Amino acid sequence: MNPLKKENGPLLIAGPCSAETEEQVVQTAARLFRTGKIDILRAGIWKPRTRPGAFEGIGTKGLFWLQKARELTGLPVAVEVAKASHVELCLEFGIDILWIGARTTVNPFAVQEIADSLKGVDIPVLLKNPINPDLALWIGGMERLQNAGLTKLGAIHRGFSSAGEKIYRNRPQWQIAIDFKMAMPEIPMINDPSHICGRRDLLQRVAQKALDLDFDGLMIESHITPDTAWSDAAQQITPEAYGQMISDLVIRQVDPEALRERSELERLRKQIDMLDEEIMHILASRMKVAREIGKYKKDNNMTILQNERWKEVLQKYVDRGAHSGLGEEFVTRIIKSIHDESIEQQEKVMSGD
Ligand code: PEP
Ligand code: MN
Repeated sequence: MNPLKKENGPLLIAGPCSAETEEQVVQTAARLFRTGKIDILRAGIWKPRTRPGAFEGIGTKGLFWLQKARELTGLPVAVEVAKASHVELCLEFGIDILWIGARTTVNPFAVQEIADSLKGVDIPVLLKNPINPDLALWIGGMERLQNAGLTKLGAIHRGFSSAGEKIYRNRPQWQIAIDFKMAMPEIPMINDPSHICGRRDLLQRVAQKALDLDFDGLMIESHITPDTAWSDAAQQITPEAYGQMISDLVIRQVDPEALRERSELERLRKQIDMLDEEIMHILASRMKVAREIGKYKKDNNMTILQNERWKEVLQKYVDRGAHSGLGEEFVTRIIKSIHDESIEQQEKVMSGD
């Protein structure tokens, strides 16, 4: 029995991005417990931060607070581990579940070190997707854990870093999570809307989408005073807001018979829908950049259309399209129409609309 997969309904993991103080951990746990919508309490003890100097985690003393929160609520507790010494401390403190963060999954040495340190200890472990959209690296990390003899495993989809992304903190790229599910159907897939969105107003939509795609659970960051959180403030929500959000989710029953009958055609249609959605999303991101350029041109008194650049852009894509089997006329039409819309949006910016 894998405790990371529930018989009915999604597995619900919630808790602060970071353990900060004893009171914050215990209060968050108590208030989350009161929502009745939590299976596992999470908290970061060692925080992998992109830049040094940011809050890098409270360290070992936070493990005492988690023990206390567990005593109070009876909830199992989960902690992020990034190296063998973290694993050792978690085992010493009887932490129930470990997770491996996105910045660790990218490094096979680090995942292997953790896997080696867990030989002979079949503790539940969740593996987040790597920061970069690399399915093989994610699957490879899971195989390292399996090879170490671990059987209570789960995956967490937390989105992927993407330079052009304007809306999400980490672009979801749902197809990668779905491909993972296809490759390793026995591994439950948990969605982490918090790190995908990076902002609280988008959480509900992403969580709902994950459930609609038949994910096995959610991991959501919750804090008693989100705005003053020491890490990831913009994406955290109070335990009560969390409870409300979970209540508002529509949990659609999947009819196993219908599922079996789902034809190849339907599966392909789903893929097309997903790709179309991605196209729309990319177009919206592109228009946002176009508007920023419009603002720059306005501030610097430049014309909207710079003919030479436009010709170069068009030719580049016609050539590229030809390489990918796209007809010249089709590519020209698409690029022109995107360009038209960009000009229109820039005009609006420049005329101060
Ligand atoms: C976290 O869960 O707080 C975290 C650091 O997430 P990720 O590894 O997905 O960035
Ligand atoms: Mn976080």
